[in-house]
Amino acid sequence: MNAVKNKPPKDLLTYHIQSEGLNDNEISKIYNCSSQTIQRTREKYNLLDFRKWRLSLLPTHWYCKGLNKVLPIEYFTPRSDSNYVQYCRVFISQKYPKFKQICLDYLGQICNRCGEHRQAVLEFHHVDKKEQAISILIRNALHSSAFEMNKIPDKLLIELDKCEILCSNCHKLLHYVENQKRINKEYETITNIT
Ligand SMILES: [Zn+2]
Ligand SMILES: [Zn+2]
Repeated sequence: MNAVKNKPPKDLLTYHIQSEGLNDNEISKIYNCSSQTIQRTREKYNLLDFRKWRLSLLPTHWYCKGLNKVLPIEYFTPRSDSNYVQYCRVFISQKYPKFKQICLDYLGQICNRCGEHRQAVLEFHHVDKKEQAISILIRNALHSSAFEMNKIPDKLLIELDKCEILCSNCHKLLHYVENQKRINKEYETITNIT
């Protein structure tokens, strides 16, 4: 005997898709029918499947407060609250070097080892315990609605106070040497295990 074939009513089908996130195949198992039946039922009710429905909810454009312009959504980073940041990527990236310079100026402008001064290769090295990378804090500051170019936010100041400026080469060398020391120590420890 054939199994009884069912079709979900519209409100239940909507629930399976939009609240439970099920696709046609998964829904068809609940109702013991083929996924084509679910697909046809969906089309009759004008319902999108889960994937298409989710995509239809996403905005295609967003407003950049910095440029005072509506731009394609690719220019914006999603936030955890299903919203998007208020400044587009290009606006933030364009401001980044200027504000990085202000942070570098605060610490002394040049590499602490070799005197390198070109901004592109200058990095923030944590001498004291690192809470967060300076580059992330700089980006956060740029995204803040309270941002002012000449004012370093407290959170960033606290972190900068733990840092020194090094150029990429000196920075790499320093971490390399530290790492090597650690490895040698570990090597000694494991070779001494009897
Ligand atoms: Zn470092
Ligand atoms: Zn250097």
